[in-house]
Amino acid sequence: MQINLERLQQNLHDLNEIGYNPEDRGFYRIGFSDADMQGRQWLMERARSLELDTYMDGAGNVFFGTGARDQPMILMGSHIDTVPAGGYFDGSLGAMAALEVIETMREHYPQLDTPIWGVATAEEEGRFGGMLGAQAMSGKLTPDWLQEAHDADGVYLKDAMAAQGLDVMKALEAAIPPERLKAFVELHIEQGPVLFQKDLQIGVVEGISGVFKWIVHLKGKADHAGTAPMDMRSDAFMGLADFAHEIERIIAENGTDKSRITVGKVELKPGHPHTVPGEAIFTIVGRDMDNDIMTDLANACRRALSAIARKHRLMFEYEQVSWLAPKPCSSRLVDLIEQQTQHRGYSYLRMPSGAGHDTQFMSEVTDAGLIFIPSINGVSHAPDEWSHWRDVEAGANILLDTVQAISKA
Ligand SMILES: [Zn+2]
Repeated sequence: MQINLERLQQNLHDLNEIGYNPEDRGFYRIGFSDADMQGRQWLMERARSLELDTYMDGAGNVFFGTGARDQPMILMGSHIDTVPAGGYFDGSLGAMAALEVIETMREHYPQLDTPIWGVATAEEEGRFGGMLGAQAMSGKLTPDWLQEAHDADGVYLKDAMAAQGLDVMKALEAAIPPERLKAFVELHIEQGPVLFQKDLQIGVVEGISGVFKWIVHLKGKADHAGTAPMDMRSDAFMGLADFAHEIERIIAENGTDKSRITVGKVELKPGHPHTVPGEAIFTIVGRDMDNDIMTDLANACRRALSAIARKHRLMFEYEQVSWLAPKPCSSRLVDLIEQQTQHRGYSYLRMPSGAGHDTQFMSEVTDAGLIFIPSINGVSHAPDEWSHWRDVEAGANILLDTVQAISKA
């Protein structure tokens, strides 16, 4: 059984007519914007024209599918909202592939026993924090949060939803009881360079990496850059530079090939060319697939910074801003997806996802699996985001095979 690539291409094309900006070639379907809602209306009309059942839940998630409502369903999907100037496939691929898999299965099995549904999730990209639709389905939303959530411009979620005819509190009713779900499977582009660089077709995602974020202060003494001798300084930047050189060792000694440590934001004070930096404030973001390894990495960062602070006569303080534990995918589904990939003879890699996805919330209520296809040059969240059609076809076929395997299990 094969998915119909032309039909999938057509649906992606038709959806991406909505919110397209020819000037920068980006897509603008920001969560709960007019274009986002037009995309959702388009999808419901397309589903109706295919004689599928379809509805929008209280969070703005659009469901489309077929099969008995009293049986646990297999749910596929991803988001159709985009970042500003987003790419062609981020999210849309998973939602349109779900539609294609349902169509393919209906052609082959006119009487489907297992209910098979797709979902186009709402506000995944983070205008109001992100993954709103998946959080709603997995029962994670609270009334307080819904009332208070707002975007960077100060627009409240409740007002943005009201402008689209939606009542924010109805998002609480979108929770799906776990017994109604058999599994959730998402197809998504990798949004990173690994599969493309290794020339592999499929990423079998083992889980979403855990991530911790620190804000570190190294405090020394701001001195005149001319009068303070090199050996009498407490130069906070020297401490930061030493730490940067320690990252490779910290990972080699404490981490895995899935570990990442990044210093992404740096501020030097007073920030003057003729003054020795008296203070360095910087972020450390650490990632791994294993919570214990994340702890080891964090401890190693702390030990290294303490030693560096002593060496340069600095004070060292840090604040842990967040610690999100890794979210493993269902091992049953990881194995199942790997088997389908081997059957098809596609090259693949078992890998973590360094980016967050709807799957991480769905994994809390059901067996959840995530399939990646390569992003050319790893580009995403930009108009240049692209994937080869042969990889799109391969990914959609693996989604199809996985759903079939689940329905038979
Ligand atoms: Zn996405």
